[in-house]
Amino acid sequence: MATVTLDNLRKEFDNGRIVAVDGVSLDVEDGEFVTVVGPSGCGKSTTLRMLAGLESPTSGTIEIDGEDVTDVHARRRDVAMVFQNYALYPHKTVRQNMAFGLRMSTDLSKAEREERVRETAEMMDIEELLNDRPNELSGGQKQRVALGRAIVREPNVFLFDEPLSNLDAKLRTTMRTEIQRLQNELDITAIYVTHDQEEAMTMGDRIAILNDGVLQQTGAPTEVYRNPRNEFVGGFVGSPSMNFVDVAVEGDGGRVALTNDDGFAYELTGEAARAASGTGVTEARLGVLPENVTVAEDEDGLRATVEVVEPVGSDNYLHLDLGPDFIARVDSHVEPSNGDTIRVTFDQRDVTLFDAESGESLL
Ligand code: ATP
Repeated sequence: MATVTLDNLRKEFDNGRIVAVDGVSLDVEDGEFVTVVGPSGCGKSTTLRMLAGLESPTSGTIEIDGEDVTDVHARRRDVAMVFQNYALYPHKTVRQNMAFGLRMSTDLSKAEREERVRETAEMMDIEELLNDRPNELSGGQKQRVALGRAIVREPNVFLFDEPLSNLDAKLRTTMRTEIQRLQNELDITAIYVTHDQEEAMTMGDRIAILNDGVLQQTGAPTEVYRNPRNEFVGGFVGSPSMNFVDVAVEGDGGRVALTNDDGFAYELTGEAARAASGTGVTEARLGVLPENVTVAEDEDGLRATVEVVEPVGSDNYLHLDLGPDFIARVDSHVEPSNGDTIRVTFDQRDVTLFDAESGESLL
């Protein structure tokens, strides 16, 4: 096991014309499972490749278990990486693929290596594949072998680069659980890169969100979901994600009105009002999570027209005309018809306000 520390990591390509990773700092604890997520091109893979030693940083440092490994060769880092495309040697059997890494990175005897491969194959349930070559395997089997090849080395740190992207939805779900189970069982520090926010949220002890090479926020998945630090994070995590409404901010002290030209009107009071008016921001974006929007029984609350009712089993998603893609996630027993006018409310404790210009949270 090991801790991992990235300090102000930066990676430029093309003589500085591309900044792939822009000052990323991250502490990963011993045995922790951290998922790194962000849109395509945000620098996830480059960050991971630097950690693995496959790419060298332009500046910044990488420590594994307190040791500066920034300039240490990949093979001496005691990390194992699992890739999206499996990266198995096509001419070697599964057994040889698994044993090869062991031969390169440890000084175990042949008998010890064989024993380790056998044990790992058993753990991964791939014993019957040991004599097969990669082209005889399904995608799911290849990924199990790739995982097995990483595990057999008993690395200090596991790195995953979108390992499940090439699998179908069902297999992906199974493998997610499997990876979590293994990581738990082996108690290995893991850093897992994905573009899929749902995968990141369900798998990580902690989630790190990247955009444009910059780390936006790290935290427990529910913490990040409920308290996004900026609008990007709010809009990126959760399915459906946070609703946003453009509002003008008016008032001071104990009462602040949030209104817009489409007839939206919401009042903040007390602490939230003081915090909002204290910033001096006049143009903001109100953020509220779909499950925090409730349908009001009486005439209080915001008037909204139901554009579409989308049933998703236990819940209904009510698409409302309060803002772009504004969704109220309600119990499936609440079933208005398309076109109905309803009243909705939400508690001001569940309201987030973002500066319209910077996107940063104001509350
Ligand atoms: P994806 O999910 O699409 O793989 P990513 O978040 O992993 O994206 P990276 O692959 O790390 O992103 O790329 C970050 C940026 O750096 C992108 O703009 C990419 O084009 C650029 N980049 C990555 N590798 C190189 C390279 N070897 N040479 C030049 N530019 C590169």
